[in-house]
Amino acid sequence: MAQLLDGKHLADLRATKLKQKVTHLKSEGIQPLFCVINIGNDPSSKIYLKTKKRRAKEIGIKQKLFQLSSSVTQKELLSLINCLNEEEKVNGIMIQLPVPGQIDLNEALAAIDPEKDVDCLTPANVGRLWRGDHFVEPATAHGILTLLDYYHIELKGKNVVIIGRSSIVGKPLAAMMLERDATVSILHLKTKKLSEYTKRADVLVAAAGQPNLVTADMVKKGAVIIDVGINRFNGKIVGDVDYAHVTNVASYITPVPGGVGPLTVESLMEQVVQLTRRKHGK
Ligand code: NAD
Repeated sequence: MAQLLDGKHLADLRATKLKQKVTHLKSEGIQPLFCVINIGNDPSSKIYLKTKKRRAKEIGIKQKLFQLSSSVTQKELLSLINCLNEEEKVNGIMIQLPVPGQIDLNEALAAIDPEKDVDCLTPANVGRLWRGDHFVEPATAHGILTLLDYYHIELKGKNVVIIGRSSIVGKPLAAMMLERDATVSILHLKTKKLSEYTKRADVLVAAAGQPNLVTADMVKKGAVIIDVGINRFNGKIVGDVDYAHVTNVASYITPVPGGVGPLTVESLMEQVVQLTRRKHGK
């Protein structure tokens, strides 16, 4: 059986340390303030918003939710983003995904001040990430690297295979793992024969949103498995990996729930604090 990579435990540990940093900032009269823009009533978004709110409160970060109607116009959204950009007290802005079809997400993201871009999704920050001189990191990728570091799993020279090429998970994670000298392959829906790549992976990251996509026969013996997927399946929350069988082949594996998820939320809070400190020259 593979050793469990306990994201929940690490997230709690890091939250305790982050809380101390925030208490220190507050003692200097600095209150981190984080604004979330949610459009419409996506049921999964509601759950994520609740989790973020709980974690922010626990750490001492002020979180403000801007709930917009599902028929909001692009112009109204851009006007809100501009207001938040200009508001001195705001340290972080994020748009909760997904957004309705009438919204041009790329244009909205590009409107966020890069100094307040907690998700690292503005063109300027994405560019910095690939250049390796960034000051903010996408939460999920940050959480995964934190977890690997905590368990002393080295990436240098390793074959990393990431299934999924989204802007929030696969692509930024690839950029950050390249910085750590891994050899990275990104697979996606049009990739032919996933297993030809996955069988060579020392570290396999599944971020596709497909239950049971990764089966034991696709995994090299001793591989490290990072399951990012969050799927509702047969009334349960599961990842993208057939955990019950893959655990017999892998050396390390993240559970779902309790793996990458809690670290993503905690890492997001770390980015808010990081941007707050940066603004105040710390
Ligand atoms: P997305 O839909 O934007 O991207 C999915 C990617 O996976 C795409 O690039 C697609 O090409 C690829 N893909 C889908 N099915 C595939 C298949 N059968 N074979 C190969 N590639 C395939 O999704 P996302 O926002 O990147 O999220 C992916 C999953 O991770 C979802 O389940 C989401 O809920 C979860 N997620 C979890 C966290 C966390 O903190 N644990 C954070 C973000 C996303």
